[in-house]
Amino acid sequence: MRAIQYAAPRSVDDALAVLQEAGSNARILAGGTDLIVQARTGLRETEFFVDAKRIPDLMELTFDPERGLTLGAAVPCHRIYAEEAVRRHYPALCDAASLIGGTAIQGRASVGGNLCNSGPAGDSIPALIAHGAMARIASPRGERELPVEEFCTAPGRNVLEPYELLVSLQLPAPAARSGSRYLRFIPRNEMDIAVVGAGAYFAVSEAGRITAARVALGAVAPTPLFVPEAGESLIGKAPGEAAFAEAAEIARNAARPITDMRGTAEHRKHLAGVLTRRALQGAWERIES
Ligand SMILES: Cc1cc2nc3c(=O)[nH]c(=O)nc-3n(C[C@H](O)[C@H](O)[C@H](O)COP(=O)(O)OP(=O)(O)OC[C@H]3O[C@@H](n4cnc5c(N)ncnc54)[C@H](O)[C@@H]3O)c2cc1C
Repeated sequence: MRAIQYAAPRSVDDALAVLQEAGSNARILAGGTDLIVQARTGLRETEFFVDAKRIPDLMELTFDPERGLTLGAAVPCHRIYAEEAVRRHYPALCDAASLIGGTAIQGRASVGGNLCNSGPAGDSIPALIAHGAMARIASPRGERELPVEEFCTAPGRNVLEPYELLVSLQLPAPAARSGSRYLRFIPRNEMDIAVVGAGAYFAVSEAGRITAARVALGAVAPTPLFVPEAGESLIGKAPGEAAFAEAAEIARNAARPITDMRGTAEHRKHLAGVLTRRALQGAWERIES
């Protein structure tokens, strides 16, 4: 057995001070569904848990029609999909939050933790990218913001420097006629991580033409993959099978997966195309409904 120190700061400033004092082995604890497992198995060296759940900025979940959604980094999944504004305006995020683990895991697990764990198959990350989310990061030197697609740098690694923490995610207000969908493929109907995941968002003008679109994939590269050219291919087109198939082919070609116990590279590439097409179709059905 190993002793672990624990602190529960009440503000971002206090958390930063604790992180600095505790040194490089301190880690932020959100839901702990990755961290506690990794600490127990020795996958992550840590001697100090800094609990995020008492910090109001990290537990904020607010929607403003102008600013969009502010999602505190430690807000658990069950609060996300229970929120009417999120269900209505950010459905791909709800799709992802309701897929992570099962009900018990969703009671603890946060989208911020999913992002900071930075797994290539993290379900919330393609959904965040599809929605154009920005990550707000605090450090002793001040704050910075960056697009979520630039956050992960390698499997299990990200842009966070020592003594930095993710405060929140800012998702822009979606356009009036817009929709989104996140889908993943797993081989069984049980808890598993995605063999491939795809998130898609697009907006349609009154004239029925696509005005903005974003597509992102999970588990097909060392980091979750933004595929801007798939979204760009849709601009100016009418939503429908032909446009979706073309974007899906672009996403398929952008995927650079590996073969592992969950699937072959070839299978994953195929799935990247299929899931992109279905995610776009699903987003369209939501716009029409
Ligand atoms: C049974 C089971 C099933 C699972 N199923 C899925 C699944 O289907 N899909 C999926 O994507 N994942 C799955 N996971 C993994 C995990 O539940 C998710 O990644 C979850 O979203 C992590 O969130 P958390 O709040 O528990 O993070 P934590 O475990 O608390 O943190 C994860 C990592 O991020 C760091 N961190 C957390 N918050 C911050 C912050 N604000 N600033 C800086 N660093 C931070 C921590 O230090 C740690 O390194 C599963 C896990 C289990 C145990």
